[in-house]
Amino acid sequence: NDILHILETDYDISKIIIDTWIRTLEIYSADDKTIYFCVDEKRGKHGVDYLHKKGYDIFLLSAIREILNDSDVNIVIDEKKNFIPEDEENGIEGIESKLHREYSDGYYDAVKRSNLNPKYTFENFIVGDSNRHAYATCLAVADLPCQDNFNPLFIYGGSGLGKTHLMQSIAHYILQNDENTNVLYTTSEIFTNDIIDAIQKNKTDEFRDKYRRVDVLLIDDIQEIIGRERTQQEFFNTFNYLYEAKKQIIISSDKPPKEIKSLEERLRSRFEWGVPIDIHAPDYETRMAILRNKAELNGLASIPDSVFNYIAENIVSNVRELEGALNKISVYAKLMNLDITEDLAKDTLKDLISKETTSLVITPDLILSTVADHMDISIEDIKSKKRSADIATARQLVMYLSRNLTDRSLQSIGDTVGGKDHATVYSGIKKIEEKIKEDSQFNATVDVIIKKLSPQG
Ligand code: ADP
Ligand code: MG
Repeated sequence: NDILHILETDYDISKIIIDTWIRTLEIYSADDKTIYFCVDEKRGKHGVDYLHKKGYDIFLLSAIREILNDSDVNIVIDEKKNFIPEDEENGIEGIESKLHREYSDGYYDAVKRSNLNPKYTFENFIVGDSNRHAYATCLAVADLPCQDNFNPLFIYGGSGLGKTHLMQSIAHYILQNDENTNVLYTTSEIFTNDIIDAIQKNKTDEFRDKYRRVDVLLIDDIQEIIGRERTQQEFFNTFNYLYEAKKQIIISSDKPPKEIKSLEERLRSRFEWGVPIDIHAPDYETRMAILRNKAELNGLASIPDSVFNYIAENIVSNVRELEGALNKISVYAKLMNLDITEDLAKDTLKDLISKETTSLVITPDLILSTVADHMDISIEDIKSKKRSADIATARQLVMYLSRNLTDRSLQSIGDTVGGKDHATVYSGIKKIEEKIKEDSQFNATVDVIIKKLSPQG
């Protein structure tokens, strides 16, 4: 934070750049003279190039030297995959060898009782660079639950990337070891309904008992409890109770704890007691492996590789959609009694794929439509000369975001918002920078819009 503070105040780098490009850097490792940073996986090589092209790497280095008071320190910024040594997986091999074994009837009963999906096991989870870290951590927690640094275990990542699958895998593994463990999988939704139900029927004691009896509590999509005051309160109590009793708590969310804006502070800080782990969108090889695996699991023989390749190249940011695409093709082929070919795949997936590719690159036009949609103001109004406060703010926000999230010139940004000159764009950007500093509500809105624009959600 001290480093980021220097970047912001001494080097005048805007908060949005810091949040988007620098705060998201992860320290991969360090030796006595070098700190290795990896860029957010979804930005990949583009992120490395961007930081370099704009000279932010130099500023970062200089801030680090200042803070550490050591002018010999160096930094390396690269994609994570370029750092990971080939044999890093060895450590988990021992645990993995326990994955294949015979299961008792009691285990299957326990799976039902615990609310688990029988398919969401480690065996069915394909591991690649994008999820190796999350996978290894989950496996470690499964093998030795309730260790302080992974309690709670907080897993976050975009929709459809395997959070539910991974967290349930832990539960399966634990039950495979001991079917008598009290495991409970729940979602924010179920948890909320349980509370409402309990209150209505005057059975809050039963509710508490249900959730406090467990040895391992999994709660999926925690971001959904935001704004539900009573649920948050009840969850807070449950959490504390289980934590004190040294039970394992596993939480998933679509964002890291610090970005769950309106989550009560005391709850948020508890989520950070453990190390939050994230899961990224799968790379090409992982996507291919997932598709082949699913085809095999679903008994879909004889799908040519070109079909897998076509899907994997075009659907890049969501495993659920990857599966959906494969299903869609196979159902269609069966219905029409056709062979599954690349042409058939192209034809069947037309709609799905055009949506996916256009949402990948952030352009001023995309920003324009996202801001318009979010602020409920029409694109025409933003492009017009109208000067009412909310329209002007939306317009300036488009300028500001375009400036920070794309590499367009002020002139070209001006064109996007209906032909404003570059001085107007410049002053618009400044106004938003001011507003972000002064108005935390507005700042939060901007964050949400940026999230909406992010390629992998
Ligand atoms: P999330 O909870 O993050 O939205 P899910 O866990 O529901 O995502 O995953 C969506 C679908 O994709 C599920 O059917 C899941 O089995 C599958 N899936 C996700 N990641 C993988 C993976 N690495 N290997 C195999 N299947 C996966
Ligand atoms: Mg889920």
